[in-house]
Amino acid sequence: MNGPLLKVENLTKHYPLGAGLLEKNVPVVRAVEDVSFSVEAGETLCIVGESGCGKSTVARLLMRLVDPTCGRVLMNGIDLARLKTHELRASRRRMQMVFQDPYSSLNPRLTAGQIITEPVENFERLSRKQRNALAADLLRKVGMRPEIMHRFPSEFSGGQRQRLGIARALALQPSLIIADEAVSALDVSVQAQILNLLLDLQQQIGIAFVFISHDLGVVEHIGHRVAVMYLGRIVELAPCEALFAKPAHPYTEALIAAAPVPDPTRIRLELSVEGEVPSPINPPGGCAFHPRCPLAVERCRIEIPPLVPMRGGRSVACHVRSDLDHTPTRSAWTLPPTKAS
Ligand code: SF4
Repeated sequence: MNGPLLKVENLTKHYPLGAGLLEKNVPVVRAVEDVSFSVEAGETLCIVGESGCGKSTVARLLMRLVDPTCGRVLMNGIDLARLKTHELRASRRRMQMVFQDPYSSLNPRLTAGQIITEPVENFERLSRKQRNALAADLLRKVGMRPEIMHRFPSEFSGGQRQRLGIARALALQPSLIIADEAVSALDVSVQAQILNLLLDLQQQIGIAFVFISHDLGVVEHIGHRVAVMYLGRIVELAPCEALFAKPAHPYTEALIAAAPVPDPTRIRLELSVEGEVPSPINPPGGCAFHPRCPLAVERCRIEIPPLVPMRGGRSVACHVRSDLDHTPTRSAWTLPPTKAS
């Protein structure tokens, strides 16, 4: 097959605020603005950003759980918006979702076996023998014993429930899983187990992931490429190693600098971004980051910077940084003085 597995073009979602249908000029929440990216088969694309930046709305738009205001989502080159209801159902077999909360995303009245085989039974009738065989196979894939298929969700720990959520997502043999904060409700040691499980599954069956997280440590561990979102827009998209080694956008730089470093020999820089994230109801004109950006120039207050391709598969939305045909060698931020200085 030619072309990417998933292609997202100019995806936008505005939520009108408490308006009647005929009212004009109603305020809107600009949750997602003009987002474009693609995902190749077997790839993990991470989407990161602070809470409220629009990353979970992107996940819902990809799954068609909400309709976009404009823009397209193409799976294997097919525009999902043009599919009829039965065709959309069939296409959902290829795209599944793992949710953040392993406690509320499983039906407490169903057994583990029923939960993980339910997606298949939505499409075809299974005999008891077929259902048990499928459940056993899926449980083994996520590192659980088949004997537990008769237990209920309340009998499992958080990590085990998330394994069940992953088994359920695998049931229809999807080529893409969208994982929305899939490990953020789990303890750190359990997080590591689930992340390693996802990496193993990717190696074994070539599955692709759109992995949505606010945790840069997790993203660095699992991502091939990373899209950084700020106030509904992608501001930087780059291969994971390049992004963490040399962030180009001033916001990416501050995010990475503020993330905890689990290595006591590495010094953590504290670049605090001044001010609050602006409201998505009334975002600043021009570059939405300009009120907080140390590099802001007059043009930043007027023109929205487009996402411009640079060298090495990186794209950046910044008037200052995307004018350069290389990644910056100096920080955008004035570093706070060290104790020795
Ligand atoms: Fe800063 Fe201007 Fe770049 Fe926005 S466009 S990140 S305000 S330099």
